[in-house]
Amino acid sequence: MNLIGLSRAELQAELEKLGEKPFRAKQLWHWIYWQGKTNFDEMTSLGKPLRQKLQESSYTLKRPEIIREQNAADRTRKWLFQFDDGQSVETVYIPEEDRGAVCLSTQVGCPNGCLFCHTGSQKLTRNLTAGEIVAQFMAARDSYGEWPSPAQETRYLSNIVVMGMGEPLLNYENVKKALLIIMDAEGISISRRRITLSTCGIVPVIPRVAQDLGVKLAVSLHAPTNEIRDRIMPINRKYPLEELMKACKQFQEIGGTRQYITMEYVMLDGINDSDADARELMRLVKGLAVKFNLIPFNEWQGCPFKSSDEKRIKRFSALLEEHNYAAPVRQSRGQEIMAACGQLKSTRPSA
Ligand code: SAH
Ligand code: SF4
Repeated sequence: MNLIGLSRAELQAELEKLGEKPFRAKQLWHWIYWQGKTNFDEMTSLGKPLRQKLQESSYTLKRPEIIREQNAADRTRKWLFQFDDGQSVETVYIPEEDRGAVCLSTQVGCPNGCLFCHTGSQKLTRNLTAGEIVAQFMAARDSYGEWPSPAQETRYLSNIVVMGMGEPLLNYENVKKALLIIMDAEGISISRRRITLSTCGIVPVIPRVAQDLGVKLAVSLHAPTNEIRDRIMPINRKYPLEELMKACKQFQEIGGTRQYITMEYVMLDGINDSDADARELMRLVKGLAVKFNLIPFNEWQGCPFKSSDEKRIKRFSALLEEHNYAAPVRQSRGQEIMAACGQLKSTRPSA
């Protein structure tokens, strides 16, 4: 049994089964999530007898197996991680000058089938457990040797984006549990302000993110009207734009309007990138505190879309910025190793 992913209460319950006092759970937590140890024998403060018991038990602190690691010229790193049942996901680290973001996956595949998304072309196999979500981050830290948890300011792995494979709000209980573990100040301790969760718009769950977690929200908007969105994002037929905007409003009522929502907008040539689309988009988000993030479409084999060209994207961005919306263009990272937005999929290296 892997202990990674247990809540504090669950960890305590496991130790109680071994006849241990509650304070031992706090110590063990520290060794697992602050120190990042994988070997019980190194957990010196636990005392010899307990260490021995743990060694002899069936408990592990195993990370997923690394099936493949790729490094891009821009230093983006991507792993294909495999879990015990043979299922696998991709996880990405995107370095900046003196910090960086780990992009976590939440499902094997995705049920939503957005037409422009490589992950969406892989049907959902299963949800990841809380432990599998946390373990992706821990394995990334292992890879950079960033243990014990350094001071916030000096970390390379400083931020988390829940923007990998899958739709986090369709696996909400596990995502929530994982993020609560990751945010715990006596462990991995990534602050909620450094975590951004991206959703395609699972309306009923959006307010709960503000209530339960207080992390930042990004919404895969990608279209100014239902007509366009229905065509490229099937989920829109279930949760149309009016309802999505209402849920965003609620998110901000709970989280406060200083909590800007990032509206992600993938620029698709001839589909959603006209001047009229930009104007319609601003009408749509009226009353919300938002910034836009324009994403040049990243190509993948078999996808018919093309990215808007640079000039069109600049013009689209300028229109939004004229009206005082922040609308930066997201720089594509790790494209040549298929690590950029929307390119992830659990495909095996070919022999
Ligand atoms: N399921 C969640 C989390 C995935 S985030 C969501 O959809 O928000 C991945 C981000 O990359 C989303 O904004 C997604 O819409 C975007 N994306 C998907 N395919 C893309 C592509 N081919 N090029 C650029 N961005 C893409
Ligand atoms: Fe799923 Fe998000 Fe890709 Fe849509 S964009 S298919 S919701 S991962």
